[in-house]
Amino acid sequence: MKSDIRVCSAWREAHDRPVYSLSATCPSCGAETVNSAPAPLDPTDPHGEYRRALKRRNR
Ligand SMILES: [Zn+2]
Repeated sequence: MKSDIRVCSAWREAHDRPVYSLSATCPSCGAETVNSAPAPLDPTDPHGEYRRALKRRNR
C-alpha cells in the first residue's frame, strides 16, 4: 500500500524523532520531506530479499 504520509528528510539531524507531515516541506524545520513508506522497504537494500525470505520461512 502506498502511503501519502511524508517524513522530514533531516529529522535525524534536526529533531529527536521523525517529524511526519502531509506537505512537501517539514513544518518544523522547513527541510524537504520524503515519502515515509519506501525507507523500510528499500529495494536497493542488498539484504532485503534475504531478510524477507527468512521471514516467510519462519511463518
Ligand atoms: Zn524537520
